Amino acid sequence: MAVIGASSDGNVFEVNVPPGGAGLTNYDGSVLDAVIVGGGIAGLASAWDLRNRDILVLEASDRLGGRIRSETRDPYWLNLGAHVFSGPGSATARLCADVGVEVASVPGQLAAVELNGRLVVGGRPELYPLRLPLTASERVALSKAGARLRLAVARYRNAAAPREGESAPQARRRLLQFGDDQTFADWLGPMPGDADALFRATVTRSTADPEEISAGQGIGYFALVWAAGGGLSRNIVGGAGVLVDEISAELGDKVATGCEVTEVTPAADAVTVSYTRDGRAEQVTARQAVVATRAFEAAAIVRGLPDDTQRALEAIPYGPTVVMAVLTDEQGPMPWDGIYALATPKRSFNMLFNIANVAHARPGHRRSGGSLMMYRSAHGAVPLLELPDGEVERAFLDDLYAIFPRARGHVRETQLLKLPRMLPYPAPGRAALQPALDRPLGRVHLAGDYLGGVYSDTAIASGQEAALAIRRSLA
Ligand SMILES: Cc1cc2nc3c(=O)[nH]c(=O)nc-3n(C[C@H](O)[C@H](O)[C@H](O)COP(=O)(O)OP(=O)(O)OC[C@H]3O[C@@H](n4cnc5c(N)ncnc54)[C@H](O)[C@@H]3O)c2cc1C
Repeated sequence: MAVIGASSDGNVFEVNVPPGGAGLTNYDGSVLDAVIVGGGIAGLASAWDLRNRDILVLEASDRLGGRIRSETRDPYWLNLGAHVFSGPGSATARLCADVGVEVASVPGQLAAVELNGRLVVGGRPELYPLRLPLTASERVALSKAGARLRLAVARYRNAAAPREGESAPQARRRLLQFGDDQTFADWLGPMPGDADALFRATVTRSTADPEEISAGQGIGYFALVWAAGGGLSRNIVGGAGVLVDEISAELGDKVATGCEVTEVTPAADAVTVSYTRDGRAEQVTARQAVVATRAFEAAAIVRGLPDDTQRALEAIPYGPTVVMAVLTDEQGPMPWDGIYALATPKRSFNMLFNIANVAHARPGHRRSGGSLMMYRSAHGAVPLLELPDGEVERAFLDDLYAIFPRARGHVRETQLLKLPRMLPYPAPGRAALQPALDRPLGRVHLAGDYLGGVYSDTAIASGQEAALAIRRSLA
């Protein structure tokens, strides 16, 4: 079969794909070095590190960034995706520094709680059980669980510490084994009433309930959000979309949106990538391919995967989220100014974030206006997926006004996004899938957040690793 392709600089080439293998015969001797499937942050991190090669990023939707999504509303931004990022020493920090985007420590309280009408902000988390309106048995259960959790977080941090001579994929494999033999709910034990509601509101940020995620993932979640100065502790100034925009500006016409890849077919000396653009079927061929989609999407398009890799990709569960971004127009300080993250058990949303805090915290007086984001994740989000958007928006706003009555009359714009499969979450037994996911697959390299437990940082790290493997193979 003869396949005609075009490289990003417009060179046309023909590839012969005989049965059982591919032989490359190009009109001008050129062929793409790599095709990158998916323009989320994993694909863009790969593309950034390969930007001086002959590459093409194919993105199905009409925008880049995937689950990183912010829209500028000067001097703020609406946020509908990732917003807190890993700090110094992380793959994310390296990418942000290389690209030249400004990052800042997340300002404000990260563990505020609103429960039964009481707002608890600041102070030592271990004293929260005494400050929240709980029954005596809920207080005791929460205090005991908190103490156990702090010890477990210390063990997790120990396990997560870098080891001499260990590669990043090896470290991910090892960390996935932490608490992989039971669910977080089993590890925690039964929790009464509102103590359960409180854990549930926070842990479901992972898009799954405590009965679904592994104990290690639940403990790791607290390790990430309790890490003063570490963990997910950085905002991108101007919104996370700035990182996407800067990478995309540098890549120029090496990126094509509206191109849905239908097949990635590796052969002996090339990879053929079939996609549709404006309803037309097209193909491109490259020496290497990065597949940087969600796991189940990779399973559907990559041909000839080893059986265990195919099964592992299909087995990664994703949980739902309904997220709303809110632009506000207050003229002065608001009661949420000192808060970044607020857990809101028993509300229609389970977390609220003060997205504009990083802008407010900059030198000078607090400017007017602001930007908030709230979401509901896991099983609690399922009924919301079915409701008309207007009803969800009303329910979220009613609860916003119930928590912060002064917000009433100051909501200028809302945007709602329903994500039935938002985040991959490690369930018990997840570690056993990892060898099939991070094994070499010849000319195809997998990248994405599902390859580990640190969300966008795993996505970026795996994208960078794919780029490194490709650079080595092309050298
Ligand atoms: C509301 C929300 C809040 C979040 N908060 C945080 C946070 O604070 N910190 C954090 O670290 N993470 C957070 N995350 C998670 C983070 O956004 C993701 O882990 C990360 O963005 C995943 O990047 P990715 O590149 O692996 O996948 P994606 O962003 O999903 O990118 C995959 C891309 O591939 C494209 N694609 C799929 N199939 C095809 C195909 N067949 N052909 C071509 N293209 C295709 C998709 O359109 C998409 O653009 C949050 C996510 C959401 C939604």
